[in-house]
Amino acid sequence: MPLVVQKFGGTSVGSPERIQAVARRVARARKRGDDLVVVVSAMGHTTDELTELAARVTGLERAGSEHPREMDMLLTAGERIAAALLTMAIRQEGAEACSFTGSQAAIITDEQHTAARIREIRGGRVREALDEGMVAIVAGFQGVSGEREITTLGRGGSDTTAVALAAALQADRCEIFTDVPGVFTADPRRVPGARVIREISHAEMLEMASAGAQVMHARAVDIAARFGVDIRVLSSFSDDDTPSGTLITAMPRAMEDLVLTGLASSAGQAKLVLRGLPAGMASSTELLGALADGGVSVDMVSEADEGGGRMQVQLTVAGDALERARAVAGEVAARLGSGTVEVQGGLTRITLVGSGMTGRPGVYARAYRTLHAAGVEVHGASTSSISISLLVPAEREDDALRALHDAFALEMAGEHTTVAER
Ligand code: ADP
Ligand code: ASP
Ligand code: MG
Repeated sequence: MPLVVQKFGGTSVGSPERIQAVARRVARARKRGDDLVVVVSAMGHTTDELTELAARVTGLERAGSEHPREMDMLLTAGERIAAALLTMAIRQEGAEACSFTGSQAAIITDEQHTAARIREIRGGRVREALDEGMVAIVAGFQGVSGEREITTLGRGGSDTTAVALAAALQADRCEIFTDVPGVFTADPRRVPGARVIREISHAEMLEMASAGAQVMHARAVDIAARFGVDIRVLSSFSDDDTPSGTLITAMPRAMEDLVLTGLASSAGQAKLVLRGLPAGMASSTELLGALADGGVSVDMVSEADEGGGRMQVQLTVAGDALERARAVAGEVAARLGSGTVEVQGGLTRITLVGSGMTGRPGVYARAYRTLHAAGVEVHGASTSSISISLLVPAEREDDALRALHDAFALEMAGEHTTVAER
């Protein structure tokens, strides 16, 4: 019997009716003979609501940074509720099922509360349940550390639970059910012309996810690439039991000749400009070292000679690290004996992804030309071998995405599909 891991996201189990619909789908698959492990996210906006409750009780905007252990205790409750309810609904459909927390499924993580990484999945109880003919329902996004502390895998982490289970159990299929019918060339809620990509490589999907395409958790794609897990992304809102969705695989067919695979964006970016620093590598080395020591992760970096023995360094950081970055940069400028620090928040990073860009001149130029024509100012840019990222004002995010999607539409993969209503 084929072993299938299915994952259902928050919107897919957002109400009692949605849970019943998922239960019917699971029961049908069971009747067809699949062995099933079902990973489930917290219902609807539960995780946001619990986070908000913690903020209100503590008076802290980010309660998780002060109380990481308790935050994990709190948030894992969301997935546990959904797992128990889904299990009851599946049993009502006549299939045997049993729910497990991440800890019961022996998903062993490191100690990093709120952003733990999976080390190993023992999964003994999940295998036993399968052997007894049961559907194993696993609460997503959570695990247990070597110290027996409850941990979470970071926002969106249920995808990672599913892919890691598929790898550990050597599942025949891994299906991620969500609220859109696959991976699109851009977020279909922001770009109306976005199209479903039928096949995408692990590498490109990892780039899209890291650049902000929320549809897949980046860690999940990374694990899939390393363990050779093919993932199918599907809509849970369609009644079709054999929809095609998007296949994420090592070597997709027929992808040559496409310049771009898709666009993704990530809001909440900020830029620091340090002017008048003493010219030379020593200044940037000192600055980057101090930021690293201060726990600030830097994204884009560029330097320019200002003449007269002075240089400027521009760098971007996540918006919530801006204040720390500003303080560290100020100290470095003071230590170096010269330099001013300017900051700019409210930026969004737009990323164009595509392995077809490699060695193809002119993509950068077209992206700049397109944004210039749309009146969108670019505040910084960087590239990797399969992506180009551009920083734009946050309020122009959708305009920038749509203009770029239009400009490159002919060279992008994808079929036109409408997105089901939430
Ligand atoms: P789930 O709760 O099922 O995990 P998410 O909200 O995490 O769902 O991810 C699905 C959402 O991701 C979609 O509703 C869509 O708005 C967004 N999204 C962003 N980029 C893309 C993309 N390239 N393709 C599909 N969906 C995307
Ligand atoms: N419930 C968690 C979140 O909202 C995990 C997930 O949905 O994947 O981030
Ligand atoms: Mg998700």
